[in-house]
Amino acid sequence: MRKKKFGIIGKPLSHSLSPILHNFWFQKYGFSADYSIIEIELNEIEGIFKKIRNKELQGINVTVPYKQAVIPFLDLLIGDANKTLSVNTISLNENEKIVGNNTDVYGLEQGFINKLNKTNLDQNKVLILGAGGVTPSVIYALSKKGIKQIFVSNRTIKKADEIKKKFPFIVITKWEDIEERAEEMDIIINATSIGLQDGIEFKQEFRVTKKSMVYYDVIYNPKETMMIKKFKKKKIQTYNGLEMFIYQGQKSFFLWNQINPEFDKELKQKIESKLK
Ligand code: NDP
Repeated sequence: MRKKKFGIIGKPLSHSLSPILHNFWFQKYGFSADYSIIEIELNEIEGIFKKIRNKELQGINVTVPYKQAVIPFLDLLIGDANKTLSVNTISLNENEKIVGNNTDVYGLEQGFINKLNKTNLDQNKVLILGAGGVTPSVIYALSKKGIKQIFVSNRTIKKADEIKKKFPFIVITKWEDIEERAEEMDIIINATSIGLQDGIEFKQEFRVTKKSMVYYDVIYNPKETMMIKKFKKKKIQTYNGLEMFIYQGQKSFFLWNQINPEFDKELKQKIESKLK
């Protein structure tokens, strides 16, 4: 049987850990398959779709900056991608249609929201920092839990305004006001890329927050951003984005192979060993 081929499209991709995740599962479950990095320019998306239609590629993940850009090339938008208009998992279905789904929502639910031990979660106030590609998934996952008070702030306010068109119930907070807004929050989510690279950090101090506030960082490399370190020192509960990453991959794997791969200790250790 021919080896099945999977991969992730985006740019830049050199640091993606998705190949480690999927190739671990392919090996564990005895699949003759390979998952690789496919770093492409915007104008190469069409060629990738041809390969999916010709069955040269059985499935792809999509990451920055193409989660919206792939949508016009799809035959069908399914699952949570319908609500988020953000696609991270693509394959050819049994009717030969190219379908796009979103597994980031599931990733955040399993890796964070369902772990929260908060009473009256639906009454919580949440501040999301950032209005990039991942933010619609974050808003939708929170709203599925009944959370209504969602505040979104972005350095470039225009992008937050665009997101409000999709989710009219969110409240936009000016970037200059996030520190003050943070004081009343039950949950703060960093959905920016601040903290991903050395040297780029939040200028805000976030000195005053509720003691019960929970801080979530979508970033998982480094394992502990400056913000996580800072809040941990203050005994505030923090989470990084590692489990979200593994769970989004788990659902993609299931969509492609109809097997729900196990998220075990060995896998977590393997991924963690690659992190800073
Ligand atoms: P995008 O590139 O689409 O968005 C980046 C966001 O970061 C924008 O809101 C941008 O603001 C903001 N930003 C970047 N630099 C600065 C800065 N110096 N000051 C203020 N704001 C800044 O990325 P995504 O939304 O796709 O991803 C965001 C992060 O989430 C990334 O770090 C990514 O790795 C992570 N991620 C993690 C996942 C997981 O499974 N854990 C899944 C998906 C993403 P502006 O619009 O003003 O430029």
